[in-house]
Amino acid sequence: MDLSGILKKAREKRFALTPSEIASLLDVEAGADRADLFEAAYAVKCMYSGRNVSLRGLIEMGNACAKNCLYCGIRRDNAKVERFHLFEDQVVRMAEWAHREGYGSVVIQSGEMESDEHTEFVAAILRRIAGFSGGELGVTLSLGEQREEVYRYWREAGARRYLLRIETSSPELYRRLHPPDHSFHRRVGCLRALRKLGYQVGSGVMSGLPGQTVGHLANDMLFFRDMDIDMIGMGPFVPHPDTPLGEGTTLSARYLSEQLHIGLKMIAVARLYLHDVNIAATTVLQTLAPDGREQGLLAGANVLMPNITDAAYREKYMLYPNKPCIGENAGQCRGCLSLRVTGIGEAILWDQSGDSPHYAARCGNRTGAV
Ligand code: SF4
Repeated sequence: MDLSGILKKAREKRFALTPSEIASLLDVEAGADRADLFEAAYAVKCMYSGRNVSLRGLIEMGNACAKNCLYCGIRRDNAKVERFHLFEDQVVRMAEWAHREGYGSVVIQSGEMESDEHTEFVAAILRRIAGFSGGELGVTLSLGEQREEVYRYWREAGARRYLLRIETSSPELYRRLHPPDHSFHRRVGCLRALRKLGYQVGSGVMSGLPGQTVGHLANDMLFFRDMDIDMIGMGPFVPHPDTPLGEGTTLSARYLSEQLHIGLKMIAVARLYLHDVNIAATTVLQTLAPDGREQGLLAGANVLMPNITDAAYREKYMLYPNKPCIGENAGQCRGCLSLRVTGIGEAILWDQSGDSPHYAARCGNRTGAV
């Protein structure tokens, strides 16, 4: 089937594509074919979310991490990182600001830690956010792998959504990206536990990894389908110089452009294959091009996650190099994003928590899109 036939089929029905058709879309070159791919994905996005963008205010709570992923700038063994952890009051204050400013939801993110103290610390924040917002402010946690009872405890304390990226659906590639004691199967088990507990579940992968093929990326789409994922946060790999996977890499303009190219195609193909999930245009896209996030929205994404962490802490949360918006405060980010979104003819959905239409549909609310 030619490209226009594949795109027509994909627009008409979710999960319609075969793995080789998914791979063929991921393989399109820059130019007219890629423009057609993005246009088709944007049309599907508009069917579910209109020309609207949901916001998540991102709070980077701390950069200490017990894990040692080979690509990550805040991995345990990176001694160059100055570690920080916000106090409970600081996190709550940032969430209050987000609520006042019309953000319908926040994401609380940190490196991975497992302890009773950490569990209670997060639960206390969740209860305070539920208290001051009357449950209006949606909270997504992105705090890594935890025991099922911890996920349950946090859910009961007010968390609605959980983001846990699998990074790659290939166990073999996962092994090459992580030390031997990091378990792919535990991570998949965590995603299943979250789903069982009633969270809106987010996951995601990196694209453009060393040794990764289009076949791997096509399988990532099948993984999202099979795991019934509600929200997707994906981004291209950007090598960090202080990591085993990144040291010695030169970030040439051509390399960055290729990483952006594959990252945008992943958004478009996810939209065309899965249809009704929330997809974030992640900040890493802006590292690759000044208008990278806008390009992500026009390729089918419908969520932005502006950083609302106090500027003093942002430069310490460098998962990848050249992260944008390091010196801006939350108010500047709000204004900048509004301009960027309206500049491409989209509108921000202020004061809406922006549930995933996929989640709304499986909860029996088929009209409850955004
Ligand atoms: S990717 Fe996440 S779990 Fe891995 S080292 Fe970085 S913060 Fe820790």
